[in-house]
Amino acid sequence: MTDFNLASLLERTAAAHPDREAVVLARPGAESVRLTYAQVDGAANQLANALVERGVRPGDPVALSCPNLPWFPIAYYAILKAGGTVVPLNVLLKGREVAYHLDDSGAKAYLCFEGTDELPIGAEGHRGFTDAAGCELFVAITVDPAGASPFEGTETLGQLMAGQPPTFETVVTDEDDVAVVLYTSGTTGQPKGAELRHRNMRDNALLGEELFGADAGNPDTLLCVLPLFHSFGQTVIMNGGFGYGGTVVMLPRFEAGAALTTMAAEGITFFAGVPTMYWGLLGALDDSGVDVAALAEQLRVAVAGGASLPVEVHKDFEQRFGVTILEGYGLSETSPVASFSRLGHGVRVGSIGQPAPGVEMTLLEPGTWDPIEWSAEDPDRVGEIAIKGHNIMKGYHGRPEATDEAIQDGWFRSGDLGRRDADGWYYIVDRSKDMIIRGGYNVYPREIEEVLMTHPAVSLAAVIGVPHESHGEEVKAVVILEKGAEITEDELVAWGKEQMASYKYPRVVEFRSELPMTATGKILKRELA
Ligand code: AMP
Repeated sequence: MTDFNLASLLERTAAAHPDREAVVLARPGAESVRLTYAQVDGAANQLANALVERGVRPGDPVALSCPNLPWFPIAYYAILKAGGTVVPLNVLLKGREVAYHLDDSGAKAYLCFEGTDELPIGAEGHRGFTDAAGCELFVAITVDPAGASPFEGTETLGQLMAGQPPTFETVVTDEDDVAVVLYTSGTTGQPKGAELRHRNMRDNALLGEELFGADAGNPDTLLCVLPLFHSFGQTVIMNGGFGYGGTVVMLPRFEAGAALTTMAAEGITFFAGVPTMYWGLLGALDDSGVDVAALAEQLRVAVAGGASLPVEVHKDFEQRFGVTILEGYGLSETSPVASFSRLGHGVRVGSIGQPAPGVEMTLLEPGTWDPIEWSAEDPDRVGEIAIKGHNIMKGYHGRPEATDEAIQDGWFRSGDLGRRDADGWYYIVDRSKDMIIRGGYNVYPREIEEVLMTHPAVSLAAVIGVPHESHGEEVKAVVILEKGAEITEDELVAWGKEQMASYKYPRVVEFRSELPMTATGKILKRELA
């Protein structure tokens, strides 16, 4: 039965290739930390022994707050090996939010990394929230950030692991047991814990062969800049990387220049990012000193998701980096991959591809569970995307009503509006929550953003609705200009008027030098108003 456990993704590769590099912590300007599969698996075993000794039992939720450092996979797999459920927390959460997540998930133990400025409060602060939430075991992962190895200078966690054997008999779980609870609220609303079973997460990580041409015989070197607490990085980079015996090269935070130099230095073959990362890499390329021809030679595939990849960014990136971008789509609730463009099957720029193997997608009539009948006469019909298959979560933790609202007869409704072409390729129109209703007309911000980004002066655009006395909402664009470009608000509004129908074009334009983003790199639209 062990094979059913998500932990098998690490264990199997560690048994087959103990000396292969599993994790590299890139530290630009300092020597990288390099750990083999035997080391990562052995450390996870030591920690699993310690967790069991301290009272963690099968089915116990264990919260984990850790940036992209080798400790993340070690702790994640230790919890799984012990039969626990991993509850990864966004490392940017403030104290009150940490307490909410611990309380809501019923976490019995909390592993919290202390040692980067990414965590706004120190371990001592976290201990207070842990106590308040009735969490029985608190473990501070304290590491000397300047140490040559992540095992050096450890205090609490080091003490906990010291003397523990590097072997552990993984607790037998059923593939329908919950392996991970991922907290999600999209970009609005109260966070809810999506319960993902072992099989949901394992099978999603193992889609790499069919989607991206992943090959255990010729494993990838993957750049890990997506935060591991989020489903995209967790499944596609960490679990997928380990599942196919790859080497996961981590940078604790995304910085475009450092990402480019690390890509070159470490021979990255697989890049995955959200659209703002693609945009950032393009902007940093000229000043990076990196040999782009060599980079193009070594990059095997680039994968985008998490938000719409603007068509202009897609084309520019492919042209400059000489690599095909595969765009995909999914949610935390869908483990996350639901659809993707597949390597070798062509790419339709602007499309999120076709449903992944074992996954079905359909479009629902707004406000109902009835599928839209697709017809060649009206191929642009927009509906709410619904998804069915091995990737759908069990439900929202402790929220049966929210679960029933989201899942019916195995179909999960996404809250995203989309359309489908005659060949079954899907296109995201927008999130239903982001749709603007101006004077009774539906306006989809993504469409306006795509148009604005074709203007030579516009580097990045985000469109939102702002309250308006007579129209209900007005269309507003927040824009980052290209380096050195000059244009006034009136000029851009006038240009937009020529390009778009009168109910759509933005009447208000605000220029900014940067946009607020989530820890994953998605533009935080609610903070733009
Ligand atoms: P999360 O649960 O944080 O992974 O967020 C899921 C949401 O990200 C979806 O509901 C979509 O709104 C958005 N999303 C994911 N992939 C794409 C994509 N390729 N294009 C547009 N939106 C996307």
